[in-house]
Amino acid sequence: MRSSSDEPAPSSLSCDILVAGAGAAGLSVALGLAKSGFSVICAGLTQTRPNGRTVALFEGSLRFYRALDLWGALQVHSAPLKEIRIIDATGARLPINSIAFASSEIGLPAFGENIENGVLVERLAAIAADTPNLALHESLLRDVTFHSDHVAAETGRGLRIKAKLIVAADGRGSPARHKAGIGARSWPYPQTAFTAFLAHERPHRSVSTEYHTRFGPCTLVPLPPQNDHPHRSSLVWLMNAEQAKRRATLADEALACEIKEQIAHSLGQLTLEQPRGFFPMSGMRVSRLTGHRIALIGEAAHVFPPLAAQGLNLSLRDSASLIECLEDARADGRDIGVSEVLAGYARARRSDIALRTDGVDVLNRSLLSDLLPVDFLRGVGLAAFSAIGPLRRAIMREGVLPHGPLPRLMRLPSDRPTLLRAAS
Ligand SMILES: Cc1cc2nc3c(=O)[nH]c(=O)nc-3n(C[C@H](O)[C@H](O)[C@H](O)COP(=O)(O)OP(=O)(O)OC[C@H]3O[C@@H](n4cnc5c(N)ncnc54)[C@H](O)[C@@H]3O)c2cc1C
Repeated sequence: MRSSSDEPAPSSLSCDILVAGAGAAGLSVALGLAKSGFSVICAGLTQTRPNGRTVALFEGSLRFYRALDLWGALQVHSAPLKEIRIIDATGARLPINSIAFASSEIGLPAFGENIENGVLVERLAAIAADTPNLALHESLLRDVTFHSDHVAAETGRGLRIKAKLIVAADGRGSPARHKAGIGARSWPYPQTAFTAFLAHERPHRSVSTEYHTRFGPCTLVPLPPQNDHPHRSSLVWLMNAEQAKRRATLADEALACEIKEQIAHSLGQLTLEQPRGFFPMSGMRVSRLTGHRIALIGEAAHVFPPLAAQGLNLSLRDSASLIECLEDARADGRDIGVSEVLAGYARARRSDIALRTDGVDVLNRSLLSDLLPVDFLRGVGLAAFSAIGPLRRAIMREGVLPHGPLPRLMRLPSDRPTLLRAAS
């Protein structure tokens, strides 16, 4: 149910769970919790500024959306990603061979699906507006206060909300996290991501290609056809701040020429679609994932550069794991907002978050460094991934579905108990 400004506004509401933030992470967890039978209010702004950004959603995320019966509405807007190619374009003094991974090697029809970020949020918001147990309020939250038996907050429209738990999905600056006194440490990377959609002459053949440069990867990811453009891809090109500043002022044709050169003319002629985006890169870790009546998910909990497309996939694992923790607490008749219950969620998520944050950091810094020993290690690592079959398959599996126990919503239907109660 979506609130609108012409409805007579109630002055206060109560629910089981208040979700702060209506980005991809907030809407996804709100939908999952509501479909599980919790009463949920999700507050935040769903209008996203168009920015030429997509998200590649891997197997675990697709299973999550399928389990919640959301994938059918999203799939029509996505393109499959069947092969990943990594091409070294660092100019390293030691030659580093290109490598390619095919999803068929690990028995999957595709590693995942690529979808526009704005379309994903817009579709999820539209579904949320029609989902029982879920009220979507298009307004930012303020004045979050924590009490022994509830958490309270007020929307920008003056609606007071009381809940047993607040899920902070309110992005990297997370005001809810701040109010809970949970610390965060951020650090910058000397990179800006330039993002755009490209229409091109040659087909992408469902292949995503990463050109590793000294400034970070320049990545092409397949997009579905649109209007009279049968061949389209999204571009995420990491560069330094000066290059970003200069490229932001280039005319379309000049910019298209620089892209063509960077990707070795692999897609033939190309044109840039509007809109585009420039995102300064940073990382962030939080001191803890939970506190009394609060749990953090998504970019409120972790931030790193978009290498290997891990950010939202990690956030959806946060979501699936939190839903499971809260379902179990409810089944045991426990208060879902107390620290002891939420500690189970924090324990389940700690190593996955640390592994992705550290892994992306190491990979990114290894590209930025031109020290010979670093190039050597990177070359040896890539050669080993390429040549040693079991290692190669293990890396592919880890990229799309992490090792260790999966949350129920990411298990295959045959392995999933029927705890998910679809609200009717
Ligand atoms: C260039 C680029 C490419 C990427 N590619 C991929 C990819 O291929 N695959 C992948 O998995 N990840 C990818 N990511 C990461 C992914 O995009 C992010 O992890 C994801 O979009 C973050 O979603 P979020 O909902 O956590 O945060 P956000 O999208 O930042 O949403 C937070 C929301 O909270 C709201 N908010 C803020 N304050 C308040 C408040 N007081 N009250 C209520 N709401 C509030 C904001 O308005 C916003 O809507 C990429 C990132 C970048 C930069």
